[in-house]
Amino acid sequence: MPELPEAHTVANALNLFLQGHSFEKIEIFIDKLRYPLAPLLDAGLLNQPVLEVRRRARYIIIELANRRALVVHLGMTGVFRQSEPGDERRKHEHVIFHLDNGRQLRFECTRRFSSITVCELDAPGAEPECLAALGVEPLSTDFTAAYLYRELHRRKCPVKIALMDNAVVVGIGNIYAAETFFKARISPLRPAHKLTRKECAVLVETARGVLAAAIEAGGTTFSDYRQLDGTEGLFERELLVYGRKGEPCTACGTPITTATQGGRTTFYCPKCQH
Ligand SMILES: [Zn+2]
Repeated sequence: MPELPEAHTVANALNLFLQGHSFEKIEIFIDKLRYPLAPLLDAGLLNQPVLEVRRRARYIIIELANRRALVVHLGMTGVFRQSEPGDERRKHEHVIFHLDNGRQLRFECTRRFSSITVCELDAPGAEPECLAALGVEPLSTDFTAAYLYRELHRRKCPVKIALMDNAVVVGIGNIYAAETFFKARISPLRPAHKLTRKECAVLVETARGVLAAAIEAGGTTFSDYRQLDGTEGLFERELLVYGRKGEPCTACGTPITTATQGGRTTFYCPKCQH
C-alpha cells in the first residue's frame, strides 16, 4: 500500500503537471471508487486554475482557485498517469481530467479502494475539514521526542502498532515502520509505554531519516504504485529488513525473522533489535 513517501512523490509530480492549469472536462467511467464519483461532475471544479497540489498524511490535496479541493487517497492500487488525448483508455482508468493545455490526467485503480472526494476549504492553503482528525506529520516540527514519549506512554500496545497509528503520527505504514525500528535497533514488539525518552528521540530521528530518504528515491514500488510518468520508485533497493525474511541481517548476519502484529507482517532482526 502506498505510504507517505509515495503520496508525497505523487503530490510533487502532480503539482508540476497541474499548477496554473485548469480542468476543462472531467469524465468518469464508473459510479464509485471507495466513494461515489458523481460529485466530481457537479462541484464547480471546471475552469478553475490549480493553485497547488500538496500532501497531508497519505492524502493528496489538489487545491483550486475557488477554494474547492480534490482530496485523493491512492488506496492500494491508485495511480495517476499523464496522458495525451489520443492515448487509448486502459481498462482500469476510471477518471480522465482534461486540462486546458490539451493534456490529460488519468486515474487508474484496479482494486478500487482509492477515493477522490471534493472538499471546500475555509481559506487558501487550509486543511480540508475531512482531514482535521489526523495526527502530526512525521516530517514537521510537531513530531518531537517529547511528543512521541507522551503519546507512547499512554499506550500499552506494541510500539510498532503505536507508531503506525494515525492518531499518533500519520503516514508511517508497515514498510517504513519496519525500516525505522531496524535502523533504530529497537524491537517493534516492545510495549509502547516502556520506551525511554532517549529511545523516543532515536525513533523520531530515524523515522524522519527513513521517510526523507524514501521521498528522495521517489518512494518504494510495490504492486501498482508508479510515479506520474510511469517510472518505479527506487527505494525498494534500499530496504534493509522489509520483505527479507530468512535473509541475513545486514548488521549481524542473523536471519531476519517475522511476527504478525495487527494482522500485518513485521520483519525484524531478533539479535540487533531490543
Ligand atoms: Zn542483526
